[in-house]
Amino acid sequence: MNGKPLRAWAQIDLTALRSNVSALKAKAPTAAFMAVVKADAYGHGMVPCAKAAVEAGATWLGTATPEEALALRKAGLTARTLCWLWTPGGPWRECVEADIDVTVSGLWALREVTAAAEEAGRTARVQLKIDAGLGRNGAQPEQWPELTAQARAAEEAGLIKVTGVWAHFSCADEPGHPSIERELTVFRQALAVAEAAGLEPEVRHIANSPGTLTLPEAHFDLVRPGVAMYGISPVPQIGSPAEFGLRPVMTVAGRLASVKRVPGGHGVSYGHQYVTPGETTLALVPLGYADGVPRHASGTGPVLVAGKWRTVAGRVAMDQFVVDLGGDAAEPGDEAVLFGPGDGGEPTAEDWARACGTIAYEIVTRIGGRVPRVYV
Ligand code: PLP
Repeated sequence: MNGKPLRAWAQIDLTALRSNVSALKAKAPTAAFMAVVKADAYGHGMVPCAKAAVEAGATWLGTATPEEALALRKAGLTARTLCWLWTPGGPWRECVEADIDVTVSGLWALREVTAAAEEAGRTARVQLKIDAGLGRNGAQPEQWPELTAQARAAEEAGLIKVTGVWAHFSCADEPGHPSIERELTVFRQALAVAEAAGLEPEVRHIANSPGTLTLPEAHFDLVRPGVAMYGISPVPQIGSPAEFGLRPVMTVAGRLASVKRVPGGHGVSYGHQYVTPGETTLALVPLGYADGVPRHASGTGPVLVAGKWRTVAGRVAMDQFVVDLGGDAAEPGDEAVLFGPGDGGEPTAEDWARACGTIAYEIVTRIGGRVPRVYV
């Protein structure tokens, strides 16, 4: 059966990913490029995507957790790597020993990382994060003078080197949102305070995908795109992936597990939310919410089967869902394409996001581990 897995697969087009990195680098030609590969590269597979991004010119990799950063090192990736989501007692020492840049948002984290550096007998690479307005991690502006002063003292003691100062936007995907200018101002003020404290960070950064594509004034020394690298438009209201020179990387498909004629009035799937309007052909797609197909797609998710878009008929179950083919013919083993780049007539992750009331980020990221990734 043409070399693809029997049940279902997520095809990952690494050529598209490399080309997306090049397109994004062209938008921010003077900035370094950090490929954000957290969350298993938004479901695309962390290590293969990180390798492809580095081949295409990424000099930094970004992860949420320290475990993800350590897994990159274990896989042989030596590019500069930053992680940013910590809880007390995290694997600071392993990160210091693996030359991972660690993000510090507060004094407790600075204390833990300096202790780990002392224990390891090495200088830790630290990036300080300011909360410019997102309200998540990052030091509050009023804590910033003390954090930068203490970080400078730790530098003087030879325990850390502050390699970066950074922040994360709250609403960069809403062009013209007043928070963008406000957060840039807070960030610039934080940079000035860090400089006054005697810090000389190698990289200052704030731009995610929307910032990279639409806010040149936010590029600073480095950009940190995630979703755009996977070929998804971060601002679909402004442009499609193609309009930004991007190509979707993931295609999710499966093979029909059953095709059968049923009479009108036949209930379909749990709860009989769908009842056949007349005699028809039902096809079973062997992908369900255990594979990351949102249950919110029940009755709404679009799928390309036998040359046409169908809609998920009735509820998405754990392992499977049904589509109604009407009078059209299909065979067990025929392909059902949930989403892909769209140029083969299939829906896109953005279409799925609209159908499920979510964002395309979530559609690709939640595709589960039971779906084999096929790299091309
Ligand atoms: N930087 C940080 C700190 C993030 O958490 C993320 C993802 O949420 C990104 C960059 C990449 O964001 P995007 O996927 O919108 O480009």
